[in-house]
Amino acid sequence: MEHYLECINCGAKYDSRETIYVCGRCGDLLDIKYNYREFKDLTESWLNTPLSVWKYKELLPLGRTSNIISLGEGGTNLLECSRLGTTLKLKHLHMKNEGENPTGSFKDRGMTVGVSKAVELGAKIVACASTGNTSASLAAYAAKAGLQSIVLIPSGKIALGKLTQAIVHGARIVQVKGNFDDALQTVFNFTNYHKDIYLLNSINPYRIEGQKTLAYEVYDQLGYEAPDNVILPVGNAGNISAIWKGFKELHILGLIRQLPRMIGIQAENAAPIANAFKLKKRDIKAVTAPETIATAIRIGSPVSWKKALNAVYESQGLMETVTDTEILDAQRQLARLEGLFIEPASAASIAGLKKIVDMGLIGRDEETVCIATGHGLKDPDTIIKSYNINLTEINPMEESIDEALGLKQVMVVKSN
Ligand SMILES: *Cc1c(COP(=O)(O)O)cnc(C)c1O
Ligand SMILES: [Zn+2]
Repeated sequence: MEHYLECINCGAKYDSRETIYVCGRCGDLLDIKYNYREFKDLTESWLNTPLSVWKYKELLPLGRTSNIISLGEGGTNLLECSRLGTTLKLKHLHMKNEGENPTGSFKDRGMTVGVSKAVELGAKIVACASTGNTSASLAAYAAKAGLQSIVLIPSGKIALGKLTQAIVHGARIVQVKGNFDDALQTVFNFTNYHKDIYLLNSINPYRIEGQKTLAYEVYDQLGYEAPDNVILPVGNAGNISAIWKGFKELHILGLIRQLPRMIGIQAENAAPIANAFKLKKRDIKAVTAPETIATAIRIGSPVSWKKALNAVYESQGLMETVTDTEILDAQRQLARLEGLFIEPASAASIAGLKKIVDMGLIGRDEETVCIATGHGLKDPDTIIKSYNINLTEINPMEESIDEALGLKQVMVVKSN
């Protein structure tokens, strides 16, 4: 779709054929702009097309569909969570299960667009800094496109599942001393003097653009309506900004009347945006040593903070914080009640939802969509450590199984 780039601060405009990540004039973030008046009504053609990111290609910024690099991303289930809903006294609670994406997180929605753009620009190497899921996704899409990927990871704990993915897909991996924010600064400088290496962090507006399709799918899955509330974990804040953009576009195109409230959840010790929101401020104070077990949102200086605050204020939404204990409890509860195993960062949204419901900020009859951002198997060791597991070994074919399970009597299973 025909488009150009525009600075969110000074309004400077840039051509879509330029390789540019931030405004050349003031350094602020760029946004992708379209002429929405040129859209014809697509709802008819959407009716018979299965859900996927590229179902909405007319609303995505790619010149030629022949450049599309796809692994079948998007089209994730919107699961009704009636058991969790009952516990929380919510009648309409849904979970968008982004762990179903090809590499197990929503990052694939952005990466399919970002890597396709890299191909369109003729790049041969792509790079990112990442706490895990971005590198897993970048490495997979780069492999599919036949590009080399370079991944910078911060010091400290990286979820083993995510790192394994990057390694298996052939990424060249460098660890940077410091936290994610240091790694991002490093890769930003690196791609600034290696102009031929395309940067695919969420500072890149093309990546974020793919993520807005999550909003289109929710609209589709709820029977062509927006929910009352969308609640999700916030790290670099690209996703909350992208989803808000998606809903706003549906509104501009006349497809929905009501916009959802955007509710962002951060981990208590990595919460620069939530802190700003609570002080009713328009700018953030970076957190210098962010800490949380939810590594995907362990970010002290979020790239898209300005877009995110805007989304929250504009939608009359809110931001809240949760502790690591609350995150682990929520993760366990969702696994037990709904059969959904999501990673700690994703569980932050459930933990936040509980808090917000307790504060009376979500009505019993409202439709709430929670974004389960990534799959639980990405990071099993954090979880297994929070359980006290003692496996008892028994002899085969002996009745000691009753003893092992603590059963007093042999259970009689009746066959009807
Ligand atoms: C990247 C990520 C987030 C945070 O998304 P942002 O766009 O950085 O706010 C949350 N959960 C998971 C699983 C992620 O991979
Ligand atoms: Zn500018």
